[in-house]
Amino acid sequence: MVAMKLLDTVTGVTVEVPESVDCADQEDQGEYMWTDGNYSCDCNRALFHARARGVPEPSNPPCGDERFVLSEAPWMDVGLVISRLRKGDTPTGVKE
Ligand SMILES: [Zn+2]
Repeated sequence: MVAMKLLDTVTGVTVEVPESVDCADQEDQGEYMWTDGNYSCDCNRALFHARARGVPEPSNPPCGDERFVLSEAPWMDVGLVISRLRKGDTPTGVKE
């Protein structure tokens, strides 16, 4: 599977999200959780980022949707996007 990568836009550091937290076992491979669910928020992403780096977790990191950017995810995989197009689904991020 495609690894999930999380970029901290403040420090420029990208980490790979451990599979244990990426929700890839879900049918949508975690897409909803990471785009609209709890994991879409900077406060949760800050914790994942700290854990992935092996540094102490920040206490009460601020909420937001700007600092931590998901740069790679299974549902961004080219093969998956193509297979969705073939099925007639609208790919993620493309608005009609
Ligand atoms: Zn939050």
